[in-house]
Amino acid sequence: MKISDKKVVGIHYILKDDNGEIIDSSEGQSPLVYIQGSGNVISGLEQALINKEAGDKLHVVINPEDAYGLRDENLVQSVPLSNFQNQNDVKEGIQYRVETSDGMRVATVTKIENETVTIDMNHPLADEVLHFDVEITEIREATEEELSHGHVHGAGDHDH
Ligand code: ZN
Repeated sequence: MKISDKKVVGIHYILKDDNGEIIDSSEGQSPLVYIQGSGNVISGLEQALINKEAGDKLHVVINPEDAYGLRDENLVQSVPLSNFQNQNDVKEGIQYRVETSDGMRVATVTKIENETVTIDMNHPLADEVLHFDVEITEIREATEEELSHGHVHGAGDHDH
């Protein structure tokens, strides 16, 4: 079976940045499983996996445009500290989920100065060229239920 839309795909992966630093890995964990064509994983990775088969190993280099996008300085904003509910908890590096016109984003506090908080809503991996080492562990048809939910169901967790 080859990977195409609506297949459930399992992969082990090691993700490195352009400097060879490991950002993320499935090592020691279950493989990542996703539904091809459903946007569960970044588009560049889906593209690279089309027509591959279980057991295939590949190295994929993905530009930011097909990964987490380019940095947008408009997503860096200053907010009065008084806007935050628990002001004592506001520290550099802390992250909040915020609702924007483009949907949910993660905002990272990058600076606190004179009662003004600078937040950055760019994805932490924006602008990064990603290097994946991927091994395909399984391919199967997605069930109707998985397709209607848009995500993979593991053994015994059908309550979502
Ligand atoms: Zn579900």
